[in-house]
Amino acid sequence: MRLLLVEDDAMIGEAIRLGLRREGFTVDWVRDARAAEGVLRTEPFELMLLDLGLPGRNGLELLKAERQRGLAIPVLIITARDAVSDRVQGLDAGADDYLIKPFDLDELAARLRALLRRRAGRSAAGIEHLGVTLDPASHRVTRDGADVALSPREFALLQLLMERPGTLLSRAQIEERLYGWGEEVESNAVEVHIHGLRKKLGADFILNVRGVGYRVRPAS
Ligand code: CA
Repeated sequence: MRLLLVEDDAMIGEAIRLGLRREGFTVDWVRDARAAEGVLRTEPFELMLLDLGLPGRNGLELLKAERQRGLAIPVLIITARDAVSDRVQGLDAGADDYLIKPFDLDELAARLRALLRRRAGRSAAGIEHLGVTLDPASHRVTRDGADVALSPREFALLQLLMERPGTLLSRAQIEERLYGWGEEVESNAVEVHIHGLRKKLGADFILNVRGVGYRVRPAS
């Protein structure tokens, strides 16, 4: 899951980035509204974490403008301001949830998972498909009831595919959703992870449409 973090405080930003990375999120971090605006137009983020008090244009103005422009991803506001009116304004401007600083990283991660789940139209915490289950909170995967050990990248890739059972994703689309800025991507990394997943989940669980992309096998 690739997230955009908009936060001007270096210490808070770094703590969030590291904490969420441990939870399996890929976090790209910008420090002001102008930079956020630029990357939201070019990168496929699944969610935005937005600080309200930013240098220059504040987070609320950025959010209003981006929603008006059609930004559809969930937005969670993180703010030191604890006035009720700020939170109300944020939600009315198009935020989906908020947390007040200081907050617990476990709670942040759980709220992000809830937002992503809701966006995918699921109410259950886990995903199940053809005997394979994936739990984003515990990072547990099972096949026919037995635990399957996956690397963090394999897990992220499997989640990406299982959340869109009918959708073909090209190698480039997978790469840009799995890797953040400055992360080295080996040219065959996606193939290697797909190969690993097939070995562990069965060769026919993930289909490769030659020259087009990958998807999980449809239910029938
Ligand atoms: Ca701030």
